[in-house]
Amino acid sequence: MTITRIFHGAITPEDIARDLTAYFNRGNYQVQRFGQGDNLAVQIATRQSRSAGGHTALTANIQKVADGISVALGNQVWFGLAASLGMTALSALRNPLSILGRLDDLAQDVESAQLAENVWQVIESTAQKQGTGVMLSERLARTVCPYCLTANVIAADRCVACGAPLGEVQPRTCGHCGFVVRMGETTCPNCHQAL
Ligand SMILES: [Zn+2]
Ligand SMILES: [Zn+2]
Repeated sequence: MTITRIFHGAITPEDIARDLTAYFNRGNYQVQRFGQGDNLAVQIATRQSRSAGGHTALTANIQKVADGISVALGNQVWFGLAASLGMTALSALRNPLSILGRLDDLAQDVESAQLAENVWQVIESTAQKQGTGVMLSERLARTVCPYCLTANVIAADRCVACGAPLGEVQPRTCGHCGFVVRMGETTCPNCHQAL
């Protein structure tokens, strides 16, 4: 399952790609970048030279959208049967002593299993550093008065031009993923969490 999150405000795909590269391109992982400008992909994969654990890779697709970026994190791919978690369970059944030699693999694979979570943490800290988040930014978040079509600032409860109440037309976003949702929606169409 691909998870897409939207960050609103002054942030570019480059900001995210740069920080992901700085954070992950060392130790057990290597980072490759694809694309340019408004459309980047960053692949984080275990190094082939790594001595323990299975091989895995995860790709983040980062795109410029109106007033911000969207980040889609695809499924983490495990290469071959190597996922030592499964192998270890099998060999432990047959020969309990065999598990000793695989503890190192296990430790590495448990670390790799948390890769997606770590990637989101880096992305969120970049977004915060740039002063952005899942809330609509002030620039985009204009409420158009349904009576006189004047643009009002977000959270204005009355139209500056005609004084009509605006509570019903305030734009809002999903607090989990930043997707712009409509009034009356109770579940986010993007991440399916309750609003
Ligand atoms: Zn008005
Ligand atoms: Zn959502």
